[in-house]
Amino acid sequence: MAYAAFKNYGFPKRTGYSISHWLQSVEGDPLLEHRTTSELPQSADVVIIGSGMSGTTIAKNILDTWPERKIVVLEARLFCSGATGRNAGHCKPDQWRGFVNYEKDFGTEQALKILYNEQQTWTEVVRYINENNVDCELWTGDTLDVPLDSWAAELAKETFERYKAAGGKVDHIKVTQDPEEAAKISQIKDAQACYAWPGSTLHPWKFAAHVMRDNIMRGVNLQTNTRATAIIRSEKNKHKWVVKTERGDVECLKVVHASNAYSSALEPSLRGLITPCPHMCNKVVPPKESEGFSELKGSYGVLIGKENLITINPRLNGDGAVLFGGSNPGQNDLLKWLENNSNRRTDDGMTGFDSISKAVQEFAVKELKGWSTDDMMRREETYKHAWSGILGLSADGLPFVGQLPGLPGQWVCAGHHGHGMARIFTASSGLVKLMGGSPWSDTKLPEVFQITAARAEALKEGLRKSSAVQARI
Ligand SMILES: Cc1cc2nc3c(=O)[nH]c(=O)nc-3n(C[C@H](O)[C@H](O)[C@H](O)COP(=O)(O)OP(=O)(O)OC[C@H]3O[C@@H](n4cnc5c(N)ncnc54)[C@H](O)[C@@H]3O)c2cc1C
Repeated sequence: MAYAAFKNYGFPKRTGYSISHWLQSVEGDPLLEHRTTSELPQSADVVIIGSGMSGTTIAKNILDTWPERKIVVLEARLFCSGATGRNAGHCKPDQWRGFVNYEKDFGTEQALKILYNEQQTWTEVVRYINENNVDCELWTGDTLDVPLDSWAAELAKETFERYKAAGGKVDHIKVTQDPEEAAKISQIKDAQACYAWPGSTLHPWKFAAHVMRDNIMRGVNLQTNTRATAIIRSEKNKHKWVVKTERGDVECLKVVHASNAYSSALEPSLRGLITPCPHMCNKVVPPKESEGFSELKGSYGVLIGKENLITINPRLNGDGAVLFGGSNPGQNDLLKWLENNSNRRTDDGMTGFDSISKAVQEFAVKELKGWSTDDMMRREETYKHAWSGILGLSADGLPFVGQLPGLPGQWVCAGHHGHGMARIFTASSGLVKLMGGSPWSDTKLPEVFQITAARAEALKEGLRKSSAVQARI
């Protein structure tokens, strides 16, 4: 285990983390520091570690299945202050873009299932929000993918055609290959094409808070500012686990790792499989509407070259501030910087990264009409207001769902690879089915999401080999 890939893990930063747009908007909400009981319960049926989209929806599914189960949710910091409380707010089901890569890595059938699962997840998230009147600024409409140059346009076209030829469903995707028409639809000057299909944006903290408030009313015990530090076997009962925290121990039958990027700090077998990586989100307040101004109408993935992406969330049901995320061209500098600063992998205290903010500014000024007014350019913070969050990168890009190999009673739903909003809702319900003894087929999730000893070992072997090659260079 001396390889670098296995050394990149860490717990949530205790103090000095940045404040996201979402966290700022709910400052003072009592749920942030909620402790259902002043003392930590000494026992529970299930302890869930983490209170983001995963932890809250897993607790909900357990209650839906076994209303009497005693559940404790441990949160190291404020309620939902991890990636869910810091993301760019898209619930954007991938409907074709990842197909070719998934097909190469996992075969045609699994690639189709992965994209179908995203569609299902989005549908279920929207249904849950509507049926329960969840106040989370939900916007639903066309989400656009817009290739910005010929490389991106060519790649998008090839991928889309391959997906269609493989039997992928495309009748809900509107495709425009005419650049002039694409620019008109998207309001992005150099658009080369435009792919549009239904997707959503929402306030992720408010979503998780709604689920958690309901969980608490149904008996869940939430303990914020309580970091799980270790999990050991119970000495009294070999079928039980003891979750150790700085405020005491909780003995339980089942533990769920819903701590995404941080899972590998607590559970050594996940090291190398799930790696934390800081990621930025920039917020820009656009100019007041003027003639010819690019008024962003949907949510966007702007595709640049072969591997870069700028996501845009205009928050059409929000306060008018626009969020820019994704792996924009400045991201490569952040990754290079990380190579020499691996101790900063769980540092979500960064309030900006120059190359990333610069890439947002260059894009907006060049591509969005009216986004370089004197007022905008004069204001120092226009293109610099940013925060960071920590992604849980998965070694093969897919989440790990299921019982941890060799650790009966310990379950995981993590490694969402920067895309959890379009995956977690169904992964959580699938996990709970497995916890009840159902076979994988009942989860309806792609088989490749399952954590198995074989998958884990193959990925670790791959990491050892690639580290050995790097060491020889
Ligand atoms: C900047 C940014 C932008 C993103 N944009 C998008 C987007 O637009 N769309 C999308 O689909 N995805 C996006 N993502 C990814 C998405 O936010 C995540 O996939 C998702 O929120 C993960 O949810 P989670 O509940 O699994 O993890 P988290 O929300 O990270 O929750 C894990 C929780 O566990 C807690 N925890 C960790 N260790 C311990 C411990 N030992 N004891 C107690 N508690 C612990 C943490 O404090 C944290 O609150 C983005 C991520 C970032 C960082």
